[in-house]
Amino acid sequence: MTSYADFYRQSIDQPDAFWAEQGQLIDWHKPFDRVCNYDNPPFVHWFQGGLTNLCHNAVDRHLKDRADQAALIAVSSETGLEKTYSFKDLHDEVQRMAASLQALGVQKGDRVLIYMPMIAEAAFAMLACARIGAIHCVVFGGFASGSLASRIEDATPKVIVSADAGSRGGKALPYKPLLDEAIRLSSHKPNAVLLADRSLAPMDLVAGRDHLWNELRKTHRDAQVPCEWLDATAISYTIYTSGTTGKPKGVQRDTGGYTVALAASMRHIFDGRAGETFFSTSDIGWVVGHSYIVYGPLIAGMATILYEGLPTQGMDKKPNGGIWWELVEKYKVTVMFSAPTAVRVLKKQDPALLKKYDLSSLRALFLAGEPLDEPTARWISEGLNVPIIDNYWQTESGWPILTIANGVEQKPSKFGSPGVPMYGYNVKLLHEATGEELTAPGEKGVVVIEGPTPPGFMQTIWQDDSRFVQTYWKTVPGKTVYNTFDWGIRDADGYYFILGRTDDVINVAGHRLGTREIEESISGHLQVAEVAVVGVADALKGQVAMAFVVLRDAALLDDSAAAIKLEAEIMKRVDGDLGALARPARVRFVSALPKTRSGKLLRRAIQAVCEGRDAGDLTTMDDPAVLQQIKDKVAAA
Ligand code: ATP
Ligand code: MG
Repeated sequence: MTSYADFYRQSIDQPDAFWAEQGQLIDWHKPFDRVCNYDNPPFVHWFQGGLTNLCHNAVDRHLKDRADQAALIAVSSETGLEKTYSFKDLHDEVQRMAASLQALGVQKGDRVLIYMPMIAEAAFAMLACARIGAIHCVVFGGFASGSLASRIEDATPKVIVSADAGSRGGKALPYKPLLDEAIRLSSHKPNAVLLADRSLAPMDLVAGRDHLWNELRKTHRDAQVPCEWLDATAISYTIYTSGTTGKPKGVQRDTGGYTVALAASMRHIFDGRAGETFFSTSDIGWVVGHSYIVYGPLIAGMATILYEGLPTQGMDKKPNGGIWWELVEKYKVTVMFSAPTAVRVLKKQDPALLKKYDLSSLRALFLAGEPLDEPTARWISEGLNVPIIDNYWQTESGWPILTIANGVEQKPSKFGSPGVPMYGYNVKLLHEATGEELTAPGEKGVVVIEGPTPPGFMQTIWQDDSRFVQTYWKTVPGKTVYNTFDWGIRDADGYYFILGRTDDVINVAGHRLGTREIEESISGHLQVAEVAVVGVADALKGQVAMAFVVLRDAALLDDSAAAIKLEAEIMKRVDGDLGALARPARVRFVSALPKTRSGKLLRRAIQAVCEGRDAGDLTTMDDPAVLQQIKDKVAAA
């Protein structure tokens, strides 16, 4: 067995040989004749000359050996619907969808914007686009008209695929009125809108523009739509970054490189095997949903669970904090993928729920999207008794940058670290001001990637090469390197620790501290469920840390004596762990923290509130009332 160190070395020293071999993991209609074209940095073209198709590799390829095996398992604890599609069923549905899109005028290279809840039709639409060479742009279903309109404007889709409504906590959330309003706001108008009608909310159809999937599906029942053989470098999709910061960017991905990257990651990182079941609790609106709900597991010949609903609601719509484990047991899930924020929600539930189900099929739980704090990792690791594998990546990368490649070598994880650089990623730490490479263990710096970036990584920003170069590659003086905008540290064993975003780093009296380090210390307090630390302008010290804490027992909030005692305890903890400089000026107790729809902390918004500034664009925020509570606390002080 190769050691991971050797595997990684080869990927960096001999990328052509390494990726040519990985390229054999997928089907090619015509083999590639050049592995990596890096003639014009930072732009990379992988597998030039090759012809392939993402949908072929995800669906058609498996018809020979596993036509009747489960491919897509659509489960909704919102509607009670539970349906398994075999690879053959999926092949049929995708062709019906592809024929419907073609009938609405979609051709190779056209954009199709998908604004849908977590229903099977959303996956059909993505795969149908891939099949006919259309570029899909999935927009998270929770976004309101403003965010949706700016994405329609940028993507200029020929067709939009949507639905009457989504549902959350048993309550229908109509999509159609939001979509109509977004189209009204956008100067670009789609030719047609294709709608799945779930009978959750009434729809006003626009004559000539709006079409019902149920009807077109009947018309194209027996459709046979062959896969379009595409250049490896043809665009498969664009996806907008979730928008914790600034104006959304259309991250653009290729076809061949992405297919290879996913196939390789399913083998080397996720260790998912054909015939098994993969369960990712993300949403198709996020990159994790693209890579590891839809494409990755299917490419690997696995069944994938598409789950609509809260982690705390059962199929009977009654509260049930064990619903995910129920699904793991029922479908014998072997690989699961979720986010720390979801685990923190479950942590507030009865821990006995984890013991109630037979989870023996499960081999590992992967968590990504934000820092995984040690108490949360320990809690879930003790409850599940399987490896908990943190993985660090971005919408831009499409697959993990830092993690543990258990499929290559079972290296131990370290609490608080997502792991080591993945094959193909030449990760470095640079000094923020000088751009000098930091090689000694324990030095803090900016996490960057040296080109060529590996297959699956973004090609560019949709229709804006210069923004791509300027935003990501020209931030370090004198160097052309990809900036992750995350701040990190590497230990003597080569494990990285992510300390926060570079703009979340605070400067207290000339000392640079990652807000993540302070949060990690605070979350070690037994009574703390969640914490956000931000840097707030201070006349004397430049900046000071300010902590907002959600307690496990929210009742403590009202008891001010207990709150004062807790605040002192927390400050003492930080003093002990990191020194007095890192000690927050105040610790405030709140009932919730402001997050994006994908569950990421909106530190920027909290910071703005603390500094009495406008919190900026909050269209991606999950619940505005939460920020109001922080405003009130700050105002009362
Ligand atoms: P935007 O780029 O629009 O501001 P975003 O960065 O929140 O949005 P994503 O691409 O979904 O959008 O998130 C990637 C970021 O999430 C990383 O750059 C990092 O800051 C954080 N992140 C992801 N996974 C981890 C992890 N395992 N540990 C620590 N941080 C993580
Ligand atoms: Mg980002």
